[in-house]
Amino acid sequence: MTPDQLLTRPETTLPTLRSAVTGLPSYVPGRRSAGMDIAALASNESHYEPLPAAISAVAEAAGRMNRYPDMAAVELRERLALHLGVTAGEIAVGPGSVGVLQQIITGLCDAGDEVIFAWRSFEAYPILVELAGARPVRIPLDHLEGHDLDAMAAAVTERTKVILLCTPNNPTGVPISHERIESFLRAVRSDILVVIDEAYVEYAEAGSGPNSMALYRDYPNVCILRTFSKAYGLAGLRVGYAVAAPVIAEGLRRTALPFAVSAVAQKAAIASLDAGEEMEARVAVVKQERARMSRELAARGWKLQPSQGNFLWIRADDDLLPRLVDAFDRAGIMVRAYQGDGVRITVADAASNDRVLRLLEAHAA
Ligand SMILES: *Cc1c(COP(=O)(O)O)cnc(C)c1O
Repeated sequence: MTPDQLLTRPETTLPTLRSAVTGLPSYVPGRRSAGMDIAALASNESHYEPLPAAISAVAEAAGRMNRYPDMAAVELRERLALHLGVTAGEIAVGPGSVGVLQQIITGLCDAGDEVIFAWRSFEAYPILVELAGARPVRIPLDHLEGHDLDAMAAAVTERTKVILLCTPNNPTGVPISHERIESFLRAVRSDILVVIDEAYVEYAEAGSGPNSMALYRDYPNVCILRTFSKAYGLAGLRVGYAVAAPVIAEGLRRTALPFAVSAVAQKAAIASLDAGEEMEARVAVVKQERARMSRELAARGWKLQPSQGNFLWIRADDDLLPRLVDAFDRAGIMVRAYQGDGVRITVADAASNDRVLRLLEAHAA
């Protein structure tokens, strides 16, 4: 059929998508200008290649792609258990921590149940909640760009099943302290799963955020969510995990899409854990760069909250935001802009960071 025939075809009734689906935003790929040296600072990826041991593990596992992976990911779960001081029964893995979060929400929420999270926070939260037919409850960040835990506790209803805490918060970089999460846990019902999303935990200064493993031991309704996508540099391989009470973790394993984490990803994750010190050395460089950028931006009049992630957050009103977006676009620097809120910029290598500093200097607040 030619496009013309398609258009003039008599109206037919097509199967209808659920309104939860038609209401979702469609994915808009970032623009890439040909011939330009693009700095990819929009997704908080590691600018380093995967660790050498991970690359070798992938090469070795690639020859067995004719086989399904271990669906229970036993070897990876046992390695994680050793790493974290828990049992393999308390761990569920998934295709990225977003995949695990989908397992959490579909595993715990019936239609109309409520999931509370801060806003603005990770973009995937409302999407996964709405897809599951549950109701997202967004609680505005406080004036310091952090979680307003009092307001979050006050928003709990009989329908609340899950609360998502993101520390350090994406996109603002602000952590939630151990003490604040602990008093929050004392205040909320123990039949609500409190998920602590620590996608950037490796980048946080010790003591800035919670000791989530200690909280998990004291409060079995805590679920810790972590990923190999960020500091470990495996964003493209899709592997993340949850630590949760055995009965919850078992439920998450049951709701998983079969074989969603490839053998290649499982092997790379194990090799990356084994090479933890190399990862930490890379993270230390990013933390130094984060400190340098924060200092230089502050000296130029930019008022930023200190970030504990591998990114910086610039709040920008409707006047500043379009000007910044346009300037970054023309400079070939891909950043993440959030309408009505601000811009998030990944901290990368010194040369890319210098490009960001030069651009922001020209637009000094
Ligand atoms: C990047 C990110 C994730 C991890 O996503 P993956 O699915 O593991 O790649 C999870 N939570 C937050 C807040 C993130 O920013």
